[in-house]
Amino acid sequence: MEKLKQRIREEGKIRGTNELLKVDSFLNHQMDTAFLAELGQAFREKFDGCQVDKILTIETSGIGIAVAAAPAFGNVPVLFAKKNKTKNIAGDVFISQAESFTQDRRPYNIFVSKEFLKAGEKVLLMDDFLANGSALAALLDIAQQAGAQVVGAAIVIEKTFQPGGRLLRDKGIRVESLARIASMSEETGVVFAD
Ligand code: 5GP
Repeated sequence: MEKLKQRIREEGKIRGTNELLKVDSFLNHQMDTAFLAELGQAFREKFDGCQVDKILTIETSGIGIAVAAAPAFGNVPVLFAKKNKTKNIAGDVFISQAESFTQDRRPYNIFVSKEFLKAGEKVLLMDDFLANGSALAALLDIAQQAGAQVVGAAIVIEKTFQPGGRLLRDKGIRVESLARIASMSEETGVVFAD
């Protein structure tokens, strides 16, 4: 999506070579809600004709884009995996484990209440970034535990120099990203894959 690439070029802050991209002005801290709705529409066009019953994402940074995208999919519910098993989650939960990309690969559990994810539901996975694929693999695991049908994974920014996209596609998951970054450094800026 050209407009997203333009905003990444103009507003993105690169940390390290092929490590972290910060887009805090519109996605990860302050959220440009009108722009996120446009990204949601772009996801709908990528998954044109696919039935989506529910969007499944992960707290914290997936929630904003998922809520903004839901109207484009007919105001479907957004279900987000929680990172802490709080007293708020009652009863049975699906559990999986992921490694934090931003916190030195620290492992953490994610939880989804069985009440909200049922066998046969058509689920679209969604997240802001795809890096090593750990967060998405954990969401996929939970969807599979539930017997839900995964329509695909909708990603705002995929970093193709990290293996997440390949790992998911190798598992047969349809991954659609709105911007794909082939490499980035403070010297070169962001180089897009296509
Ligand atoms: P993965 O599990 O694919 O390694 O990492 C995905 C998660 O890490 C995303 O949910 C996102 O929050 C965070 N993440 C990964 N790479 C970046 C990045 O370059 N910038 C930001 N802001 N977050 C990232």
